[in-house]
Amino acid sequence: MLSADWTRAGADIEAAERGGAGVIHVDVMDGRFVPNITVGLPIVKSLRRATHLPLDAHLMIEEPGRYAEQFVEAGANMVSVHVEADRHLHRTLTGIRARGALAGIAINPATPLVAIEESLADADYVVLMSVNPGFGGQKFIPSSIDKLRRLRRMIRERNLKTRIEIDGGVDQGNIAEVAAAGADIIVAGTAVFGTNDPERAVRELREAAVQWV
Ligand code: ZN
Repeated sequence: MLSADWTRAGADIEAAERGGAGVIHVDVMDGRFVPNITVGLPIVKSLRRATHLPLDAHLMIEEPGRYAEQFVEAGANMVSVHVEADRHLHRTLTGIRARGALAGIAINPATPLVAIEESLADADYVVLMSVNPGFGGQKFIPSSIDKLRRLRRMIRERNLKTRIEIDGGVDQGNIAEVAAAGADIIVAGTAVFGTNDPERAVRELREAAVQWV
């Protein structure tokens, strides 16, 4: 939703849903963990009323443990927090799960996978950032593909069911490669809401994603 026009968010979500979108991803930014400020709890509450799709709140904020459970209360079905921002990741993930939502760990491009190794079993999904978080419309960082493959292997070796969500710069040109490398959930912002036909954009992305798999 980072690339959405908020005055018509409800209509755009419906269009994305018709195109086959499975999850609505909301980027929450605080102006501290990332330079940008976006939306908070009231918007998540409104979105909850606007769609039946699962809401995925990606918290790009400092001290996410202070707010994560409030996002579940606001209606998020999935809440992810950054490993770089949380000194007590285990507690935060456990709290999200205890409230009944899926708990995710988000990880920046420059952060090594070893930083989340101990927490993988406590997470339902990992948000692998394929751009530096903070703004929409950035270019996909090519080394993310190799990182994605290594994360897939790490999860498999531990016999875990942790899903991988990839976030940033995915479009029709690279979605097949991203899907083939092992992403379970693919976030698209500009590629969907940056167009004037979100329904068609989602449908074309879904078709492109399965092309080479
Ligand atoms: Zn995001």
